[in-house]
Amino acid sequence: MKSYPLAKPHIGTDEERAVLEVLRSGVLSMGPGVDAFEKEFARFVGTKHACAVSSGTAGLHLALIGAGIGPGDEVVTSPFSFVASANAILYVGAKPVFVDIEPFTYNIDPKKIEEKITKKTKAILVVHIFGQAADMAPIIQLAKKRRLKIVEDACESIGAMYGQGAKPSPEDSVARPAKGGFRGKGRMVGTFGESAVFAFYPNKQMTTGEGGMLVTNSKRRDALFRSLRNQGRGADMRWLFHERLGYNYRLDEMSAALGLVQLRKIRFLIRERQRIARWYHALLSPHHALLRPLPVAPGNTNTWFVYPVLLPRNARREGIIARLAKQGISAKPYLPSIHLFPFYRKRFGSKKGDFPVSEEVSARILALPFYIGLTKTAVAYIVNALVASVARTQVQ
Ligand SMILES: *Cc1c(COP(=O)(O)O)cnc(C)c1O
Repeated sequence: MKSYPLAKPHIGTDEERAVLEVLRSGVLSMGPGVDAFEKEFARFVGTKHACAVSSGTAGLHLALIGAGIGPGDEVVTSPFSFVASANAILYVGAKPVFVDIEPFTYNIDPKKIEEKITKKTKAILVVHIFGQAADMAPIIQLAKKRRLKIVEDACESIGAMYGQGAKPSPEDSVARPAKGGFRGKGRMVGTFGESAVFAFYPNKQMTTGEGGMLVTNSKRRDALFRSLRNQGRGADMRWLFHERLGYNYRLDEMSAALGLVQLRKIRFLIRERQRIARWYHALLSPHHALLRPLPVAPGNTNTWFVYPVLLPRNARREGIIARLAKQGISAKPYLPSIHLFPFYRKRFGSKKGDFPVSEEVSARILALPFYIGLTKTAVAYIVNALVASVARTQVQ
């Protein structure tokens, strides 16, 4: 039977060669590869500095330390995210204050932020979910007005461009590359906050195995990140002299070499993802009333971390997932709402009904197989299986 996993990295012989070269060089950590990867990454995003770290989660932790967030502080963020974004707020002893999401982009709803701001609020941790930029214009305006810092979790959205901030409707097309490609009218995610974090786990648009990148325009903050990722060493890197409490969040040379090759292909990797998303969108278009794809706000460029559809309200998702699995198709609920995880409920008293949009999306969403190499025939097979399965639960 054919088998379609949810995600798969796109690794070629260039990547194999680069990693092998590192292994043969004998320099496996703290060598030239990390520097080269960082320099090219900063150039791609358009920030002055980039600091490689061992994971996106590690990057988020350091970004919040860099923003001066600590015990007693509150950070506004989205409940519809991978758990790491909210957990990083807990790592520094602060409190995540969730704000519900927009019903179409699944990003934080800017209109609902201000009512959650208190004297303790220090920052907004914006998550750009599924490869689409959050609506940054009103968020920046509010952050200025209330003197809040912005930190971006861009782990799912490398290369995504923010356009005019128009609201999408379900009819909007799935992929609208900004005019002029990645240097069009839009502005790239990672350039809005005082710092931003990217991640390279194998299911992301590009991979290093495990790994992440912290970007900023501040030289001082970049120096702090470099010290913190390397056991708190001083900037002069004096032998075993530690200025502050640090961590081992370094990225190794094999990962950096892999990352550099992937980064040099990033435009291709993103274009391929957009192509597959368009196939899904076109093949699903007769069924949009039943299965709502992710709309892209006019002017935005989505770089497609996953391909999600929203199932009908009465669909039985577990049954659909089981039937698809029998046909070799891996589909998963993606993502649960963070405030409903037991340790968040216990610690903050959060409960069902607190963030109805996020909860409804979490209850109805289904991510479909999505990776480079998926053919149009495969997408058609997956769409047909999904539509048949959903139709079955509709009549029952
Ligand atoms: C992947 C991801 C991260 C970081 O993940 P790591 O596995 O630690 O690299 C953080 N936030 C979001 C939203 C993510 O999707």
